[in-house]
Amino acid sequence: MSAACAVKLSGGHPCGGALTFVTDAIGRLVPSCARCVRRVAGVCQDCPRRVDGTVGRALRCAACRRAKLRLDGLHWRTRDPEHARAVRRECHRAYRDRKRGGPPTPREERYRRLGHARAAALTPARRREIALKAITTRWARVKAAA
Ligand SMILES: [Zn+2]
Ligand SMILES: [Zn+2]
Repeated sequence: MSAACAVKLSGGHPCGGALTFVTDAIGRLVPSCARCVRRVAGVCQDCPRRVDGTVGRALRCAACRRAKLRLDGLHWRTRDPEHARAVRRECHRAYRDRKRGGPPTPREERYRRLGHARAAALTPARRREIALKAITTRWARVKAAA
């Protein structure tokens, strides 16, 4: 049997590592998470180097953290290429505004444009899926605060 480790990390999300059951010093069967063992020991999740940051909180060494961030960015772009293009478009627009010396586009206005471009590219099913996820996330926040 393998369940996901529910230990809360510093970011608030659960660890999610696979639990294995090991026998402790007095013969009890206790769940153990390889990820948490590494985290507590201050060893990077992806390589044998030491973590960069506070031992017990930091997950990866500096090199692996950069690699992970790169990967996340890649996922975000491949998941939603239309939105990624819209973001880039807005960045270019803001850059042009700055260069022209004109007033910068207000943040609300930029976000509004981004939302529109994104919504237009989505299918109703995908939009519903995103809304459901947002509701779940908000609920989790409310429950955590209560
Ligand atoms: Zn864990
Ligand atoms: Zn590493």
